[in-house]
Amino acid sequence: MYTFLSFDVGGTFVKWGIINEFGEIMEEGAYETPKHYDNFLVKLGETYKKHPHISASAIAVPGVCDLRKGAILYTPNIPYLTGKVIVDDVKTFSDVHCFLANDANMAALGECRFGDENPYENMTLVTLGTGVGGGAVVNKKLFRGNISPCELGHITIVVDGKKCGCGKRGCFEAYCNSKSLQVYFKEIIEKEHNLLPIDIYKLAKDGNVLAKEAFKVFAYYLAHGLANVANIFAPEIIKIGGGLCEMMDMYMDDTMKYFNDLIYPAYKGLVVVEIAKLKNRAGILGGAALCIEKMIDYA
Ligand SMILES: [Zn+2]
Repeated sequence: MYTFLSFDVGGTFVKWGIINEFGEIMEEGAYETPKHYDNFLVKLGETYKKHPHISASAIAVPGVCDLRKGAILYTPNIPYLTGKVIVDDVKTFSDVHCFLANDANMAALGECRFGDENPYENMTLVTLGTGVGGGAVVNKKLFRGNISPCELGHITIVVDGKKCGCGKRGCFEAYCNSKSLQVYFKEIIEKEHNLLPIDIYKLAKDGNVLAKEAFKVFAYYLAHGLANVANIFAPEIIKIGGGLCEMMDMYMDDTMKYFNDLIYPAYKGLVVVEIAKLKNRAGILGGAALCIEKMIDYA
């Protein structure tokens, strides 16, 4: 049986798991993300040494990766990782192959292979949280692109629209990250507030008309992003992950109404939109899925 060691590196914690080829998590753990690269490698090395009998390994990082070179090109939340050829550094303490990918892409792969009873051939994951990201599985393989995999959060949904954190205007992320929900509520109540997205959600659940309206605005823009994703990838299913997916009951009906008007007419009714199922284990399971893709499916 194959077993894989999979890491999901976040700004606060590094999660890891030992996962078999059936997607069963045999062992898992987490530790605080080290403050320096030297310590980062030490902790990584310790975890590898504790599990010497793995078949392959994978590391997911929150940033842009060159998958061919195993290099991290840009990680804004963990600056010391930028520029590191992490796959080469892993070779100093492990002989098994290490695959690198962006965390949202890895999560897409995990969700596609292990999120439902049978894997999908074509699935796109859109994650809604502090940022908007995602990844696409095309014909059972992670879509890779030439430079890096796709940047779903930075497709333009409003021409000359709001400024995005990336510097561009009108990005999907600028309209559908968690902060945008707070902004819509502020615009509707016409005053400053300190409410978090979860507070606005609770208000809407309690029937507050203004909070509900904020979710409706959010749904309008989300539908534009999702329809573009559907038109580009023509997937069987789009899954929604990230923190805001927990609030889907407040915006999904409206989103689907707009979505059905915006999707390419011939695709209408053919693309399912659903909540992602693996939650915070999608990343480590995606690492196993990437190892399986490389070592078993296409070996
Ligand atoms: Zn952007």
